[in-house]
Amino acid sequence: MAVKLDTLRFPPSSRRSFLQLSAAVSAAAVFHPMTEAMLAGATERSFPQDAVMINLNENPLGPCEASRQAVANIAAQGGRYLTSVTAELVSAVAAAEGLKPEYIRAFAGSSDPLYFSVLAFTSPAKSYVMADPGYEAGSRAAEFMGSRVVKVPLTKTFSHDVKAMAAVPDAGLIYLCNPNNPTGTMTAHSDIEYALANKPAGSVLMVDEAYLHFSDGESALDLVKADKDVIVLRTFSKIYGMAGLRCGMAIARPDLLAKITNYGGTAYIPITAGVAAVAGLQEPQLVPQRKKINADTRSSVFEWLDRNGYAYTPSQANFFMIETHRPAKAVIDALAKQNVFIGRIWPSVPTHVRVTVGTPAEMDIFRDAFAQVMSMPVPASA
Ligand code: PLP
Repeated sequence: MAVKLDTLRFPPSSRRSFLQLSAAVSAAAVFHPMTEAMLAGATERSFPQDAVMINLNENPLGPCEASRQAVANIAAQGGRYLTSVTAELVSAVAAAEGLKPEYIRAFAGSSDPLYFSVLAFTSPAKSYVMADPGYEAGSRAAEFMGSRVVKVPLTKTFSHDVKAMAAVPDAGLIYLCNPNNPTGTMTAHSDIEYALANKPAGSVLMVDEAYLHFSDGESALDLVKADKDVIVLRTFSKIYGMAGLRCGMAIARPDLLAKITNYGGTAYIPITAGVAAVAGLQEPQLVPQRKKINADTRSSVFEWLDRNGYAYTPSQANFFMIETHRPAKAVIDALAKQNVFIGRIWPSVPTHVRVTVGTPAEMDIFRDAFAQVMSMPVPASA
C-alpha cells in the first residue's frame, strides 16, 4: 500500500530535515550544473580543426608536462577506485595554502560546488546576489530553486559594488568572482572584507577565484582561515590548463562544506584529475611562468587595441571585454565566419565582446580578423 508522506510521523526537527532532504533529492535528480562550455552552447556544435578557440577562457597550454605524465602513468590503474588520490590532492592543497585538510573538498571541477552552494544557501525566501555583467552559472541554479536573482551592476571601475550587494536584505548567497568573468577585473580584498562584515546575518559569501592566479590580486583564503561565512572556489581548469580533466574545489569551514555536499558531489574525484592536479602543484614555476605568458600576450593585444582606439576592460585575467559600439552578436558571427570563435553575449553590455587570451599566434589571427570585421559597416539592424 502506498504511504502518503504527510501521514508519516516525524518529530518537528526530523520532519524538517526530511523535507530538506526530499527537496535536495528532487533537486539533485533533475538539475545539472552548467559549465562555461554549456553556457556558451559550445557542447552542441562542432568546430573546425583549425579554428581559433578563444571563446571559453581555456588555457591553450593545456596541462603541464608533469601532469600529462602523471595521467599516463595512472591510466593502467584505472580499474581501481584509488580513493587515496583525492586525499593526496587535499593534503597537497592544504600544505600549499596553509589550510586544515577538513576545510577542503575536491570536486570534478568547480562548477559543481558553485551549483550546490546555490542550492544549499538560496531559496524562494533567500536571494542569490551577483554582479552584472557576471558569471551566469549560479543564477541558473537559483532560478531552478525559485530564488530571486539580484544582479548588481559593477562599479565604474568594473569592481563588485559590495555596498549594494551586501545591502540586499534577503540575500542567501552573495557571489563575487575575482577576477570577474566576463570583464577580468578585480575587486579589492578590503571590499571583500566589507561585504563579509556587512552582509545580512545568516547569508554566505562565495568568492570564486577561478582566475585569481593570472592576477596580482589577493586571495580570500585568509577569511576562510578566520572561520568567516565565506566559501572560496578554486579550479584547475584555468591556469593549470585542466578544463577537460575536471578538478576543482570548495574551501570553507567544515560546517559550510557539509551543507554544500548535502546537494551532491561524490567523495572522490577521478584519479586522472587528482594525479594531474598534484603534479601541477608540485611545479613551483608553473603559476608564475604561465601568469607571465598570459600577461605578455594580453599586453600586446591591449597595445594594439590602444593604437586602434578600442576601449577594453582593464583585465588581469586570461580574457577581457572590448567595446565594439555595434551589436555583439554581429561581431561574434562575423568572426566565426573567419574561423575565430569568441565568447557569448552578456545582455547588460550588448555591444561588448569577450575574448580569451590564446597563444600569440592565435591573437595575431584574432587581431587581423577583428580589424576586418570592424572595418565593415555597422549592420542595418544595429
Ligand atoms: N567559475 C568561473 C568564474 C568560471 O569562468 C568557470 C568556468 O569557466 C568556472 C567557475 C567553472 O569551471 P570548472 O567547472 O571547469 O572548474
